Amino acid sequence: MASHAPKSRIIKVFRYDPAAGGPGHFDRFELKTDDESLTTILDVLIRLQKTQDPSLAFRYACRVSMCGSCGMVINGREALACKTILADLKGDEVTIRPLNHFPVVKDLVVDMEPFFRKYEEGLTYFHAARELSEPALIRPDSRERQVIESSTECIACGCCVSSCTMANWHKDYLGPAALNRVFTLLADSRDGLHEERLARSLGSCYHCRTELNCTEVCPKEISATRAIKYIQMLAAKEAMKPGSTIRSDQRDTLRQGVPKLIPPQSTAPAALTPEPEDLLPAVPSPALASRREFLSRTTLGIAAITIAFLGSVLAATALAPTLRKRPETWVDVGKAEDFPAGSVKTAQISYPVKDGFYESTVNKPVFVSHQANPDQFTVFNSRCTHLGCMLRWDDGKNLFICDCHGGQFKPDGVVKAGPPPRNMDRYLTMVKDGHLFVQEA
Ligand code: SF4
Repeated sequence: MASHAPKSRIIKVFRYDPAAGGPGHFDRFELKTDDESLTTILDVLIRLQKTQDPSLAFRYACRVSMCGSCGMVINGREALACKTILADLKGDEVTIRPLNHFPVVKDLVVDMEPFFRKYEEGLTYFHAARELSEPALIRPDSRERQVIESSTECIACGCCVSSCTMANWHKDYLGPAALNRVFTLLADSRDGLHEERLARSLGSCYHCRTELNCTEVCPKEISATRAIKYIQMLAAKEAMKPGSTIRSDQRDTLRQGVPKLIPPQSTAPAALTPEPEDLLPAVPSPALASRREFLSRTTLGIAAITIAFLGSVLAATALAPTLRKRPETWVDVGKAEDFPAGSVKTAQISYPVKDGFYESTVNKPVFVSHQANPDQFTVFNSRCTHLGCMLRWDDGKNLFICDCHGGQFKPDGVVKAGPPPRNMDRYLTMVKDGHLFVQEA
């Protein structure tokens, strides 16, 4: 349990003055705090700047882990200064350094230009495949959205790139952050630049050695490794298609798998690489626990890709569709007697889904309507057919209501009012051994 007593620490901060040049050095500060459990590393830096050295340079903006400005290396591990609590750091000393692999502008401030250049190279912007008058929606409960998962939460802090040992070795490597963004667009069915984007990431995505450093340090708990493996899987499938648009040199890259290492390019002044003792994790990460599980799944995935390439085109053509194939799934909604005749009730369903090599669990509410005459259950999707907002059942009005846009549906799911273009979606149902089941399409 964190102590709330006042405590003094030695804070070692990397200093680099562009006017003086040189490799930079560490300054030692002593700082006493009243309660470390209420003090972030950003608080520490602000206090040092205000009370001990006003020339200390660091970057921050939001203070609430949203802007991605205060990424740095704290006791050897990439983290956001505003999210790192001093009490969570062991030892009497705290060492703070700028992100690795980025040119240092001054002290803890790095030049993010190379990072965003990689973003541009990966075509990491959305380009609509079709012009529509209505917003094109990916429904929150769709498999497509669930595969994209939390990858859209990236705040471009650069922590993953700093932690990646390949980022400095391969000049053409887009890096985990850009590839994570590429993945969100490749997995988006509305995107009109799928092939161009995939081609851009091909020369890069096989530089990943599945070290998982990026996944472990990401302050938003995004797995860029997972994103990169997804791109590799897509590339494998694409290359196997007859008439694939992947060029022959890109196919060679795919067949060779991992290209040879080239020596790292010389970096701008004081761009840092980690010291061995800095590599010990100091901040606990939820991602650490799942590393073994992820590796076992991903290793299987990579093995599957390799096998696919070694196979003939015929075998590959037979294999590819199975990557997304899902068996017919009947999901238990609950005991039929819990949905009395004449009632409309909400129930929660839960079932596993598999997309390629990735598995996750879908949890979502459904509406069960039990009509007395004829005695029959109807189970409705709880999302509005307009923009996918969550519906609610209103007993008083005897209607399904969409509070967002004013849609209304009658108890049989037929549109009564508002913008919904079609009646409520419903599931195939069956009753077996006293339980109500729905079929997940
Ligand atoms: Fe930062 Fe995570 Fe985005 Fe990498 S993936 S830039 S660590 S938020």
